[in-house]
Amino acid sequence: MDSNVRVRFAPSPTGALHIGGAHTALFNWLWARHNGGKFILRIEDTDLERSTKEYEQSIMDGMRWMGFDWDEGPDIGGSFGPYRQSERMELYRKHAQELIDKDMAYVKDDAVFFRVPEGKLLTFDDAVYGHIEVRSERCSVNQDGTIKDIVLMKRDGMPTYNYACVIDDHYMDINTVIRGEDHVINTPKQLLVYHALGWNVPTFGHLPMILGKDKKKLSKRQGATSVFEYNDLGYLPDGVFNFLALLGWTPRETGEVFSRDEAVAQFELKQVTTKAAVFDMDKLNHINQEQIKRMDPYKLLEIIRPFWEKFGLNPQNYGDDYLASSLATMGGRGQTTLQVAEYSDYFLSFDVVKERYDASEISEDRRPVLKGFYRQLLDNAAEWRAPVLEQFTKDWIETNGSSMKELCLPLRWALTGRKVSPGVFECAEQLGKAETETRLKHYNLVD
Ligand code: GLU
Repeated sequence: MDSNVRVRFAPSPTGALHIGGAHTALFNWLWARHNGGKFILRIEDTDLERSTKEYEQSIMDGMRWMGFDWDEGPDIGGSFGPYRQSERMELYRKHAQELIDKDMAYVKDDAVFFRVPEGKLLTFDDAVYGHIEVRSERCSVNQDGTIKDIVLMKRDGMPTYNYACVIDDHYMDINTVIRGEDHVINTPKQLLVYHALGWNVPTFGHLPMILGKDKKKLSKRQGATSVFEYNDLGYLPDGVFNFLALLGWTPRETGEVFSRDEAVAQFELKQVTTKAAVFDMDKLNHINQEQIKRMDPYKLLEIIRPFWEKFGLNPQNYGDDYLASSLATMGGRGQTTLQVAEYSDYFLSFDVVKERYDASEISEDRRPVLKGFYRQLLDNAAEWRAPVLEQFTKDWIETNGSSMKELCLPLRWALTGRKVSPGVFECAEQLGKAETETRLKHYNLVD
């Protein structure tokens, strides 16, 4: 553990926080929290045309949704600000001038170019990829293979990414740079700038690429999707967090389902693999379901509530205790919160049951037996609790014949309007005796 660790997530506000960005942010956050260090949010808004304040806001909202709290950033400040590149122009100009004065850079067509030297070996020990070395004349080349000087400041007066990034990482005291594998090719260029300015070089750790299930580059549909769309689809922040952490990392101590705290405790940058990680929706669904199961029902309730409302149900008609225990009764059914909300609708409404089920398959000659049993269940079960109801039913079958299936299938349908549900006695307990009777009566299954 090294509480001096300072890492940063440096998104460009040219879009919402998508899966790729969230993945990078996650590993930075994990490393900071594991070490008790600092996690910094820096907004790289030097692309004036494409950067917007709205995207900056939505990235921050996405980070909050993911639970990535930052210690310094444009909204909260910090001792190394400002945290937007557009507000740090003086620094970029100053060091460009310094490099021009040292003849390491020159002005051409209103842009500032860095002279890429020949014959220098640029090396770094990547925390993930290991030792990497590139000859300076190979790190920035034209199509014909000749050296291409690196643009530091563009004609519009703004710094390039490779330049501003170095200035900021230096001044913000960033000592560990964790970012996507696509930046490995940029690192030697950045090393040139560090060396030219005589600055210490941070540790780099590049994260493996994320591929779609077809092993191709992550498609727009999967990767460019804002984290909020995952919210709308019924994924928990903890589910997405857990899933993304597994893209490139395998925990040593826990299984693949873990809490944030467990991830923070056991995360090691060195354990990140270089092997491209596959974005597998089935896996996400599985992990999400496991996280739903682990969630406190009252917390889960706050996530499910808006989905119920969206389905036209009225959770406001019920108390939190009833709603939370309805969710507990679901017993982990549903891979997404959207599904949990859908599958549990009968706890909030009998109308939805009536829409799905009309009891027309129950022949008249079967009704007397069913009516007889349900009446006794309502009147004579010692307690309206699932185990008691179940035992009562078993005993009744023993004495009177019939079967669980015969007695419970119509009950399940009458209570839930669904073929699949939690245990029918659990549903009956949760709905309560009076509501159970109401529903049975509606279907003429009890007098
Ligand atoms: N703004 C860059 C990006 O979003 C940051 C890369 C880096 O972390 O150095 O790709």
